[in-house]
Amino acid sequence: MSPDDFAQRVLDWYDLHGRKDLPWQQGMTPYRVWVSEIMLQQTQVATVIPYYERFMQALPDVHALAAASDDEVLHLWAGLGYYSRARNLHKAAKLVVSEHSGEFPRSIEGLIELPGIGRSTAGAVASLSMGIWAPILDGNVKRVLARFGAVEGWPGEKKVHDRLWSMAERYTPQNRVQHYTQAMMDMGATLCTRTKPSCLLCPLKDGCEARMLGEPTRFPSSKPRKVVPIRQCVMPLLMNQDGEVWLQRRPPSGLWGGLWCPPQLDGEEELAQWLGVQALRVHSRESLPALRHTFSHFHLDIQPLLLRVDASAGVAEAGQVWYNLRQPSRLGLAAPVKKLLKLVESYVPTVA
Ligand code: SF4
Repeated sequence: MSPDDFAQRVLDWYDLHGRKDLPWQQGMTPYRVWVSEIMLQQTQVATVIPYYERFMQALPDVHALAAASDDEVLHLWAGLGYYSRARNLHKAAKLVVSEHSGEFPRSIEGLIELPGIGRSTAGAVASLSMGIWAPILDGNVKRVLARFGAVEGWPGEKKVHDRLWSMAERYTPQNRVQHYTQAMMDMGATLCTRTKPSCLLCPLKDGCEARMLGEPTRFPSSKPRKVVPIRQCVMPLLMNQDGEVWLQRRPPSGLWGGLWCPPQLDGEEELAQWLGVQALRVHSRESLPALRHTFSHFHLDIQPLLLRVDASAGVAEAGQVWYNLRQPSRLGLAAPVKKLLKLVESYVPTVA
């Protein structure tokens, strides 16, 4: 199948079946597309939509995002995971405002210089919102191309990755590039799905080598499996007489960077030492049900402990708060911390 034929089939499919009503397709701007692309990395459209709408309502343009506090951005992101995406988004917005007078660069090279924007995201922003010819290669497009060409190997390997990029370049048309880009993403998400591709409905079926081999799901190869290690920790939930819970802000980089959490300690010994250092008087202690949180490269088993302490304890330093569960402030909280706070709500003393 020639590149022209390939692109025309994809565009014809787009006209009939492509998605045209996604929130970031309305009043399309580089800012709106960029935020959606970052949210959609590792996250599905249906999950992203409510986060996206809340984010846009609070921070409707790049100036608003650049002027927002770290806490506001992380608060709006909390629950989407992979928080470095939110931190990079915030940094990039500040750069767009300070270095580019609030206008996104109109080239792939310029876009790639912004934090958190790789070649595929740059291609999506440029093609979708500016109509600039630029190929993309997100997870969905990789799958379609790997199957169409029966490309062997895991796309994380350089030679496989390079081959897929050169296919992406070859098939991306000069005309209607924004519709083509959207169509390829949609086809990967709705037709050429990971486990059950609908080949009979696919506009590329006549030239698709994986389909002709009769084993479309063999492509692309999965990442070689590694055993995911399990780490354990204790999280003391310190509650004062007013039912507030002590949280501290995590360092800006690393796990849950910049988010607010209870202390995370390796075990009982470290907990005893930590309580000693903080000079906290614990009145009562209760173990709560353990919780597992899975990150991309390990599981974290969290043992929460409810410790009742004096109200005055431990908030002398910056980056520490007594978090009021009845009137929660707008802080960035990681998903498992939200769950833990929900869990201890029923332990808050009732007001007389
Ligand atoms: S024919 Fe099937 S495997 Fe090939 S691109 Fe279309 S949906 Fe994917």
